[in-house]
Amino acid sequence: MSADRYAVLGHPIKHSKSPRIHQIFAEQTGQNLSYSAQEVLPEHFQDAVTEFFAQGGKGLNCTVPLKELAWAFASQKTPRAQLSKAVNTLKLEQDGSILGDNTDGIGLVTDLTLNHGIALADKRVLILGAGGASRGIIGPLLEQKPQSLIVANRTIDKALGLAEEFQTIAPVAGCGFAELAGQQFDLILNATSASLSSELPPLPPALLAENGVCYDLAYGNEPTPFVRWGRDQHAIKSLDGLGMLVEQAAEAFFIWRGVRPETQAVIALLNSERTGTPR
Ligand code: NDP
Repeated sequence: MSADRYAVLGHPIKHSKSPRIHQIFAEQTGQNLSYSAQEVLPEHFQDAVTEFFAQGGKGLNCTVPLKELAWAFASQKTPRAQLSKAVNTLKLEQDGSILGDNTDGIGLVTDLTLNHGIALADKRVLILGAGGASRGIIGPLLEQKPQSLIVANRTIDKALGLAEEFQTIAPVAGCGFAELAGQQFDLILNATSASLSSELPPLPPALLAENGVCYDLAYGNEPTPFVRWGRDQHAIKSLDGLGMLVEQAAEAFFIWRGVRPETQAVIALLNSERTGTPR
């Protein structure tokens, strides 16, 4: 029997670790599948996805900058995808419909809580950035019942708009970076794409509370500028998003195949291979 086809679409995509991760998951669980990476610009998204499924493809991951387009493409959405208005996982259902889900939030929460033992309940949480990744993580973070959640963004209106969208679940505040001065947080998540261009959002001093944790959703073979910033602020842990990447992939794999892969060995393997630039 020929292998079921899966792929990740995005731009840029050539350094994606997803094909490797899913190939390891497939070997580990005995699933007969192939997983490739395809460079797709937003203007070609509709055609690329339609063709992929028309040719028998079973499922897709969609990454920067395609998550909102994937949300619009999906004919059915899980509640968490519906809430986030961003989709990173598409699945061809038995009836031919396309299910959209977002596994970024569960991937982040699993990495923080299970892999790193960081409890989120009653914590003051700050998210930097108001793009597709922030959309995906706010709902799952709120489920952990933090004391407060603030979204700060370079373009302030986007932070305010995103905070407003989640008000029905719990109070979420939005602001610009300058307005953070004088506040302190137990957990600071960098969900901007600044690390991809080796930049750091302009953060006021003394933002991280004592025993605070920093987490950059971006990851690289070298520590990202934000991970280095966290170390300079004496964070008890300053982590990057490699664990989240593997955990969100595991959740997508489970949605597609109904089998949950083991993630620890994959995270350890990728950690042992790091060399190069943030991605
Ligand atoms: P988007 O393009 O949707 O959003 C980018 C965000 O970053 C915007 O809020 C933008 O602000 C902000 N930004 C960009 N450059 C800068 C800068 N120099 N200084 C301050 N803010 C900046 O990207 P995503 O939300 O999809 O992805 C964000 C990051 O999360 C990426 O690094 C991505 O790799 C990572 N990610 C990691 C995952 C993982 O599994 N580890 C999963 C998903 C994402 P503005 O609105 O003002 O333009």
